Amino acid sequence: MNFENYSNPDASGHYGPYGGKFVPETLIPVLKELEKVYLDCKKNPEFQKVFNSMLNDFVGRPTSLYFAERLTQHIGGAKIYLKREDLCHTGAHKINNAIGQILLAQKMGKKRIIAETGAGQHGVATATAAARFGMECVVYMGDVDMKRQAVNVRRMEMLGTEVRAVHSGQKTLKEAVSEAIRDWVTNSSTTHYILGSALGPHPFPMIVRDFQSCIGNEARKQILEKEGRLPNLLVACVGGGSNSIGLFHPFLKDESVLMMGVEAGGHGNNLGEHAARFDGGRPGILQGTRTFVLQDENGQIGLTHSVSAGLDYAAVGPEHSLLRDLGRCQYSRVSDDEALEAFQLLNRIEGILPALESSHAIAWALKNVGTMPKDNIVIINLSGRGDKDLDQTLKILGEH
Ligand SMILES: *Cc1c(COP(=O)(O)O)cnc(C)c1O
Repeated sequence: MNFENYSNPDASGHYGPYGGKFVPETLIPVLKELEKVYLDCKKNPEFQKVFNSMLNDFVGRPTSLYFAERLTQHIGGAKIYLKREDLCHTGAHKINNAIGQILLAQKMGKKRIIAETGAGQHGVATATAAARFGMECVVYMGDVDMKRQAVNVRRMEMLGTEVRAVHSGQKTLKEAVSEAIRDWVTNSSTTHYILGSALGPHPFPMIVRDFQSCIGNEARKQILEKEGRLPNLLVACVGGGSNSIGLFHPFLKDESVLMMGVEAGGHGNNLGEHAARFDGGRPGILQGTRTFVLQDENGQIGLTHSVSAGLDYAAVGPEHSLLRDLGRCQYSRVSDDEALEAFQLLNRIEGILPALESSHAIAWALKNVGTMPKDNIVIINLSGRGDKDLDQTLKILGEH
């Protein structure tokens, strides 16, 4: 297939058979307004100027594209560069999207912000953006996650955000999203919902992708400056799919560039033991969008597991489902143990503490880049830093 004219989604918000807006009737006009305002802002140089200056001066962009010399030597194959999203303000790529969407909220005259969070990274990014723009902010978080990520809960509270505990179901991310949607249905005239990944009903997957495309746009420019040519392969971890689509999207038309999304393989192949939607899931509808979903034979949403909270979700962004079907991107999985290995290794040989999510992408490279020719170039997206994961990791490693 030729990607020269690839411009998904279509007018109805579909990525081939995926995407769409599966929401309560009352949200349809709200999503339409959001789409209209977003498309206006996309064309508006003034909006883009404000967004870019926030990315530069508040977030700290462009983030560096770092040649990981010792990791390259250790693996012994292609030359590896790390795109350092761990250096963003608040420690991960999530802030790119949070800033973009808060500016949209401002345009729509909405003064109240809500968000969902799993590990707390998106919650912290949203709370930060809300503080910066003086908006009221409520973040929904599963009770289990609040206990696991107590430091991030306190961070959000310090920023002036109210963190609301969700006690239903597994008490994790999926239930937090449902609660946020419920709030939005009731309060949409005053409230904007900042969804944290390239997921949910149209236009969110498109908006989040576009705001995160700063990652790939910068990486493309930086690799051309450093190497004078495009990379052979891009690698990124895939939770909802925002850091990966942000890196991949600006390279989709470059046919020679291969792309690998890495899902959470957890600790087994049975439903409930992993979050590898492309290796165990099938198309279904979850939280507003049609995409690959982990589910049982009756279509009940499957339980998920990953050592990394940010990858622990039953659905993947709809555009990834299309890119997989088209063969433009490939997807693979690595296990909890492999990710923990990579987490430790990158610390020791590069002096970089990666998030457990990002450690999945490093782990894939450890297994696969060694057989690539030495003159090949690989860019791995280091989506976030691992400070948030230290306690949990030390505990697991102590138990081993
Ligand atoms: C949230 C998160 C992810 C997973 O989300 P995507 O939308 O797939 O990017 C990955 N890495 C880090 C550091 C995160 O905080």
